[in-house]
Amino acid sequence: MAWAMADESIKVQMFRFVDVLPMLRDYESINRHLHEYFEDVQQHLPWAARLALNITDGNHILGRALAINARSNARRMAERFIAGSNIEEVTQAVLKIRDAGFAFTLDQLGEAVLSDKQADAYQQTYLHLLENLPASLNALPESLQVDANHLGSIPRVNLSLKLSALDAHFNPADPKGTTNRVLHRLRPILRAAMEQGVFINIDMEQSYYKDLTYNIFCEVLMEKEFRQFVDVGIVCQAYLKSAEDDLNSLLKWVKKRKTPVTVRLVKGAYWDYETVIAGLRSWPVPVFEQKWESDANFEKLATVLLKNYELLSPAFGSHNLRSLSFAVATAEQLKVPKDAFEFQMLYGMGTEQAQVFTELGYRVRIYTPFGERIPGMAYLVRRLLENTSNDSFLRHSYQEDLRIEEMMKEPTASEKKNMNTTDTEATETEVFPFVNEPLTDFSQEENRDAMQEALEQVRGQFGEEYPVMISGKSYETRQQLTSRCPFDQDIVVGRTSSATSELIEEAIDTARRALSGWASIDADHRAEYLDLVASEMQSRRFELAAWMVYESAKPWKEADGDVAEAIDFCRYYATQMRLMEQSFDTDLPGEENEYFYRPRGVAVVIAPWNFPLAILTGMTVAAIVTGNTVVMKPAEQSPVIAAKLMEIFRSIGLPDGVVNYLPGIGEEIGPDLVASPNVDLIAFTGSREVGLEINQRAAETGSAHHGVKRVITEMGGKNAIIIDEDADLDEAVLGVIESAFSFSGQKCSACSRLIIVEKIYDQFLKRLQPAVESLQIGPADHPGTQLSSVIDTESRIRIAEYIDIGTDENELLYAGELDSKQKKQRTFIAPHLFVDVDVNDQLAQEEIFGPILSIIKAKDFSEAIKIANSTDYALTGGVYSRSPVNLKKARKDFLVGNLYLNRPCTGALVNRQPFGGFRMSGIGSKSGGSDYLHQFLIPVNVTENTMRRGFAPEEE
Ligand code: NAD
Repeated sequence: MAWAMADESIKVQMFRFVDVLPMLRDYESINRHLHEYFEDVQQHLPWAARLALNITDGNHILGRALAINARSNARRMAERFIAGSNIEEVTQAVLKIRDAGFAFTLDQLGEAVLSDKQADAYQQTYLHLLENLPASLNALPESLQVDANHLGSIPRVNLSLKLSALDAHFNPADPKGTTNRVLHRLRPILRAAMEQGVFINIDMEQSYYKDLTYNIFCEVLMEKEFRQFVDVGIVCQAYLKSAEDDLNSLLKWVKKRKTPVTVRLVKGAYWDYETVIAGLRSWPVPVFEQKWESDANFEKLATVLLKNYELLSPAFGSHNLRSLSFAVATAEQLKVPKDAFEFQMLYGMGTEQAQVFTELGYRVRIYTPFGERIPGMAYLVRRLLENTSNDSFLRHSYQEDLRIEEMMKEPTASEKKNMNTTDTEATETEVFPFVNEPLTDFSQEENRDAMQEALEQVRGQFGEEYPVMISGKSYETRQQLTSRCPFDQDIVVGRTSSATSELIEEAIDTARRALSGWASIDADHRAEYLDLVASEMQSRRFELAAWMVYESAKPWKEADGDVAEAIDFCRYYATQMRLMEQSFDTDLPGEENEYFYRPRGVAVVIAPWNFPLAILTGMTVAAIVTGNTVVMKPAEQSPVIAAKLMEIFRSIGLPDGVVNYLPGIGEEIGPDLVASPNVDLIAFTGSREVGLEINQRAAETGSAHHGVKRVITEMGGKNAIIIDEDADLDEAVLGVIESAFSFSGQKCSACSRLIIVEKIYDQFLKRLQPAVESLQIGPADHPGTQLSSVIDTESRIRIAEYIDIGTDENELLYAGELDSKQKKQRTFIAPHLFVDVDVNDQLAQEEIFGPILSIIKAKDFSEAIKIANSTDYALTGGVYSRSPVNLKKARKDFLVGNLYLNRPCTGALVNRQPFGGFRMSGIGSKSGGSDYLHQFLIPVNVTENTMRRGFAPEEE
């Protein structure tokens, strides 16, 4: 710990090592990780540790000794913070805690709950504690200091629990569904607690869960059965900017309830997580960014609590002496009885402090975690971080000679820090003025309401007709495309005209006529149109998402992401175009050089249905911002959302003819579009089969052709995720599920092969399967749905054929079930897991585009990479590993366009993860990346000799 505090690089490696250690099964593996983690920071290690690393390198016996040593040290550390792993150990531990004069609250540590089975197990543990603990504790003699408050006796058994562990999908976007499921498991716990006289505290986790946690708490405690129950509590996290409002709402509620509850006031344990996640999602940071602000807020809220102690019984959870002393002093000032509130401190941290407050006559409760060591490690690392953080009070009090006056100082701003942060922000934005459009935070009620409203509004427009649109003129055709809602085929989302051969020609001619006018507009002006499209999409954001919910069966989150990506493409390509316009000077005296771009001409954009707005928008706006004109052909499964895009182009005043909307069946109108001699460029995204055909047809030239077409095709994938033996299982299971089953596996980036290293094969499947079983299948317009139908009946039939093949040739581990309504639709496919699939099996080679996961066993990591590379595709790939050497190997040897380490392999963001593959996955450079626009342009160079008769003008 002392080394870790002294050197940040060692701290990072040490905590990462502690984090991975429980997953390492043998000494060889521990020894290998020790070397991998510490070799790069060796020079920072004390000599003894350096020596140990050096002499154990390759030496079997010494290596084993080092491994044993590392493991027993970590175990000792874990024992310091985690009270026990079973009920006997826990009972012993709490008896000791009471002997020392403290009260306790128990908290079960655990793996992330990702399945109903796990949620049931969590509930059972608590019911078991409720059954067994009170007898042994209530037999003890009463200790007034810990067993009573100003009103009388209080429960001796006190349990803390997390609501997210009572549900397989604690989902704030679906408060109703989540509340029902959580309460189903919570009520029996509350009931037993009332009967047994046990206190139940609901813990707080990440802020995304906060509102729903409060709502469930308040809802259940207003039920008749529980309304009189006083022995319950909840947490208020002072580091949240919303904490004061949260506390005031609670106060208002408790006045209505008329029975008090306890509030544990803490600063909050997820600060790093909250700031990092908010940054990655471009969401506002929910926590105060300066430590002193949280400290100050803690004091403010402590005062609120003490003023209302008869309604909200205060429990102050902190190790900061200043914060605790503040509470003591304020209580004295407000004449709050000494036993009307309590202090709470963590097991294994700052024991002397806890002692001091007991000696002063206060009730001190020890927050006591218990559970298996493996899942407990996340908790352990958090505690280690807290102990070693630069801002940690404990660190200050133990490690450094800070004066008491300094430590007890009122929390206020240090101005220097503030100025620094603004400086860096300013420079960062100057470099590249693009920020990703944030995804909608559906934990916010107003966003959920807006989405419901939009769905309603869209329902009101079902069945409308949309004509072909060429040069601003509408053309209605006899033949129509009927767009049906995939998850409810009785719904006609809309009807569009379907282009005829005359209209194809008309559209191409129109685009050609519009070309010179459009190309002569300067680039900045064209980019402005893209900004306008982005703004319009932003203002119609929920509505556009709602169209995709119904037309493409996209669950809320997916539909929302699609709109955000469309907005990103507009803003990003606008920014890129402006940058590309800036000429760089290569002039010399007597020679003037100019390098610039011309548009290629008429572009045909052919898009797929699976990102019906984002991809269509991306290809189209890339073509127009570079000065080309466009014939836009959406997929026949998603022509309505494309008509909405056309509507947007018109509403922002894009000149007629620059984009022409040409819906139709691909096989029917595609070939003519592709072969036309008047087309200069084709931007296609879709299947390999069609992409290759387009590439071939576009290459043909005849006497009518005046050039060779430029072809950009983004095609399919057969993407793999590798699970290494030391993977973080919580994260890996979640990541695989997200990658394989979000949008029913219908993303080109979706994981369809799971390659697991032998050593962890069975263990991983044991966690994966129940999590897959717990996925919620349903209509896409329901906020709780994780998996809806696939796009159409044709697609379902194709996927079902693969299921048949898999059932014949491989082993089916799990097949999900559909209800009768879903079966009737003939578009639903439940998730399937096939195991022991061979590398060369059809299931491991062909793109299936559905919720089917083929699982392959690999001997070791190297073989896993070999298997991953053994298809014709090279689009995305993923690796879950905590071995620095293996991660490095993956970077070098895993042949894909987009590689994701320790995260899902879907969800690329414009600019941050430019997207696209090679081999049979595509020709062309990455969409959403800086090379993309070049494909739509012809670079030209002009050189002028400016010297006349020996006289050269001065350079400007
Ligand atoms: P698809 O190939 O069936 O259709 C794509 C488009 O091509 C549609 O507009 C369709 O009407 C049109 N089309 C069909 N036949 C044509 C022909 N003969 N000539 C010209 N156009 C024709 O693909 P899809 O089912 O819409 O989309 C799913 C496929 O797209 C998957 O294979 C997926 O991997 C791929 N995809 C790739 C990426 C990527 O970036 N690499 C992104 C999304 C989807």
